[in-house]
Amino acid sequence: MAIAVYPGSFDPVTKGHLDIIERAAHINDQLIVAVLVNSAKNPLFTLDERVQLLRECCKDMPNVTVESFNGLTVNFAKAHGATVLVRGLRAVTDFEVEMQLAQTNRALMPEVDTMFFVTSINWSYLSSSIVKEAACYGSDVSKFVTPNVVEALKKKYKLLNK
Ligand code: ADP
Repeated sequence: MAIAVYPGSFDPVTKGHLDIIERAAHINDQLIVAVLVNSAKNPLFTLDERVQLLRECCKDMPNVTVESFNGLTVNFAKAHGATVLVRGLRAVTDFEVEMQLAQTNRALMPEVDTMFFVTSINWSYLSSSIVKEAACYGSDVSKFVTPNVVEALKKKYKLLNK
């Protein structure tokens, strides 16, 4: 059985992430979306909020689960019996970092390998940061994120801008 882990910050989950989740779930038996606890990125959403939003988005995908994790991705993968790490590639700018990450992970744990998905053209420009920037200034981001995330962003910025 092929178990895959898709690690990331998901702050918040976008339609670009969901596209990768759907495609990865299609070719693996089980997909665990793993939300990183110790993000150096000072996240907008708490860990629980990021997990909750993802769970709502993936509720109709029977072979997808969402969990949080702390520490090294390869250790999380091994502990869950996963042999595949899923990552998405948007532009060449992603490539250098992702290659380094994949090579390091493989050196640390050769039995876990990385599978890359090239973004669908619709989402090639999309990132959580861009969504947050647009939402912060009141733009409509419903093209980029699901309705639950639109609402969560509205609430968050209402609180922050008070
Ligand atoms: P991280 O902080 O680990 O980069 P992200 O949540 O930003 O976490 O992204 C997780 C993964 O999803 C990364 O592999 C990233 O390249 C990929 N990703 C993010 N946005 C998109 C998108 N629009 N299309 C395809 N892949 C994406």
